[in-house]
Parts: sequence; C-alpha cells; structure tokens
Amino acid sequence: MISVEEALNTILPHIKVLGTERVSLQDSLGAVLAEDIIAPFNVPPLDNSAMDGYAVKAEDLQAASEQNPAKLKISGDLPAGYRSKDFLKKGEALRIMTGAPVPEGADTVVMQEDTRANNGSVEVFKKIKPGTNIRKAGEDIAEGQILFKKGTRIRPAHIGTLASIKRAIVSVYQRPRVAILSTGDELVDIDGDNSDGKIVSSNTYSLFALVKENGGIPVNLGIGRDTKEALKEKFLEGLHSDIILSSGGVSVGDYDFVKDVLQELGLEMKFWKVSMRPGQPLAFGMIEGKPAFGLPGNPVSVMVSFEQFVRPAIRKMTGYQNLFRPLITGVAKEELKVRKGKKHFIRCIITIEDGQYTVSTTGAQGSGMLTSMAAANGLMVVPEDRDCVNPGDAVKVQVLDSEFGATEEPAY
Ligand code: AMP
Ligand code: MG
Repeated sequence: MISVEEALNTILPHIKVLGTERVSLQDSLGAVLAEDIIAPFNVPPLDNSAMDGYAVKAEDLQAASEQNPAKLKISGDLPAGYRSKDFLKKGEALRIMTGAPVPEGADTVVMQEDTRANNGSVEVFKKIKPGTNIRKAGEDIAEGQILFKKGTRIRPAHIGTLASIKRAIVSVYQRPRVAILSTGDELVDIDGDNSDGKIVSSNTYSLFALVKENGGIPVNLGIGRDTKEALKEKFLEGLHSDIILSSGGVSVGDYDFVKDVLQELGLEMKFWKVSMRPGQPLAFGMIEGKPAFGLPGNPVSVMVSFEQFVRPAIRKMTGYQNLFRPLITGVAKEELKVRKGKKHFIRCIITIEDGQYTVSTTGAQGSGMLTSMAAANGLMVVPEDRDCVNPGDAVKVQVLDSEFGATEEPAY
C-alpha cells in the first residue's frame, strides 16, 4: 500500500494544465491568466490633481505665510473630467477638483484648506514644494509595462485594474469538466423512494459542490448500478469530461466492479489503496489521457480523498501554482487514539484563543458520519508514526473553510 505522499507524487505528474479560452472580464474571477498583460497606455493618463484646491506655480508661493499670504488671480474653474485649454500664467491660480488634469504652466496644487477665496482672487497661506498634490501620469500603470504575468490568479483587484486598461476579454486557462458517477444498488437520487433500505446518494451532491467550490465544472452522471454493463455505459459517458470521478464500488466487496470496468475500458491503473484513514480504497489511473479517480463510497472518505487528491489535480489543470490547503499549527485540546502506520485526517474545529490556534475534534469519526464533516473547518493530520495525540500537543491542521476566522463583530 502506498503513502499519501507517494499517491500524490504519482497523480500530479499525470495532470496537465488544460488549454486556454477567452472569457469576458466579468467571468474571469478565480481563473488563471494564460497571457502576460501589457499596459496599452498610462494610468492615470495625465498629471492630475490629488486634491480639491488651486493649481498654481510653486514659485508664486515662495514668500507665502499665515501673516503674509500670496494673492493670486483665479483664472478659471476646472471640474474633474475636463481639460483646461489655457496656459497658467504667473500670478494666477486655477480652481481645480480632484482628478482634473493639471493645466500647462502649473506645477503644484494647493489644497483648499490652505486658501481663502474672495472676489475673483485667492489668498494662499502656505509655501509648498513644487509637485505637491499632483498624481503623475503613469504613476500607477506605465504604458508598455507587463502589468500581470501569465499564471496570475485573478482576484477582484486584478479585474478592476484590467478594466482600467480596457481589457474586456482575457485569456485564461480552462476549467476542467469533472464527471461524477455514484455507484451502488442501494442508492436513490434525492427525490427517489428511500424506503426499503435505500439511501440517498449524498456523494453525488457533496462531490458536485466540491468540484464547484474548487473551480471545476461538475457533470453529473447520476447513479450507476452494481453491474459491469451499467458502470461501463456510465464511464463511457464520463470520457467526454476532463476528469472522471466515481464513488463506491472500489473496495473488495462482491459487487465492487469499478476497477475492473475502468480497466476493461482501457484504464492504466497507477495505484489502488492508500495508507490513510478515512479513505483507504482509492483507485487512480489514466484513461484516454484523462485522470480517473475511483473514490471510496463512504461519505466522509469520499470528501477527504477528494481534498487530498482530486482538489490539487483540479487546481493544477486550472493553472494554479498553489495546489494545497493552508496548513496551520495548533494546540490539541483533547486526547485521541489512532492506528499507527496510517496517516489520519481527523475532522476538527480550529478556534483562536488568546492569539493561538486550538484544535478540538468534531467527535465520533466514523467514515459514514457526514455531519461531523459539516461541523469541521479543518482536518488534523496525524502522521503514520503516531498512535495518539495528547492534550497540549502541537498538531498540524489543513484549513478547509475559507470562512475560517470570520467574525460576527467587525475586527481590526
Ligand atoms: P462501497 O465501497 O460501494 O461498498 O460503499 C461504502 C459505503 O458507502 C456503503 O455503506 C455505501 O452505502 C456508501 N455509499 C456508497 N456510495 C454512496 C453515495 N453515493 N452516497 C452515500 N453513501 C454512499
Ligand atoms: Mg457499493
């Protein structure tokens, strides 16, 4: 049986970044740029005022002070969005609003608070340095510069910046289509008849959500019955996607046909079974150049295996550099017994107490107990050489919830 690390090292080299596509800027949030972005013009386009006040020549204020203000003639009034056609002459001040281009001849803007206007002229009570309160053309973005590099993950500030240089369309890496197949004769869909020992295929829904959360496009193949024929038909349909996921039917039970069927369809199996808990049975291979994951059936095992192996694969395909969840170190609050020789992923709750992360489990850790996954915001990783965790031990935790640390009250 291989370790979690070996499994990951086997999977990732087979995962290739997908092709590129052009999307509208509005649809690019979270995607990864597949091109370098070159700035076509300066932002701001012109030197402009950073204040409401007066555009002046600094030399006219050389002797200005509280007692001895400089008196300048107001030559006009310039709101933002307009350009002054006139050259500012010595002894003049142009009334100017924030964002308006500084007129030719002016080299400084004096803020309104340092002036007093009356009757067509303005008194300035302060001497200021040339260039004060002027935003220079191109100080944010210079024409011709590489603004964002290929590989950048697009966040809201990138979208705003791209808009400012008129990039309505950007080239990004495609998001993978991920086929999701749930297997088992005991399964019904959410609106099916669950009397008589049937259970709802919750994996269909948790996998759908996981794929979506991580930027993939879920393709639901529904439920495959535990016969080779039924599974074959479903998997053939799955080959239209970029990644194939199944859950269940991959263990050693009499009706566990997933591995056989995938291999009959041409899967080159790379491994089966990983030394971890939950989630030991897991088949991975390549079929028609596409990665296929036969995930375990238990609802928690399926989610934990997805986190460890499928999520990094989806992110790599999408062009992400950082494939993994953040790992924090916290202090364990309770005693925990585990089986030596496997890597354990314990559903847990991370809290912050006195500036320190503390970690408590969500209680019973049965691999069918999905509510304990719902309660968790992290997975405590207990390495293979441990058989217990004691209160006060430093433990590593993968943070699952991007809302982790969010607060009810504003925090500063
Ligand atoms: P299996 O490996 O197919 O024997 O499945 C292991 C356990 O997971 C069984 O108890 C199944 O009923 C359960 N299971 C399998 N698939 C699903 C599913 N899609 N939704 C919920 N539970 C499932
Ligand atoms: Mg089954």
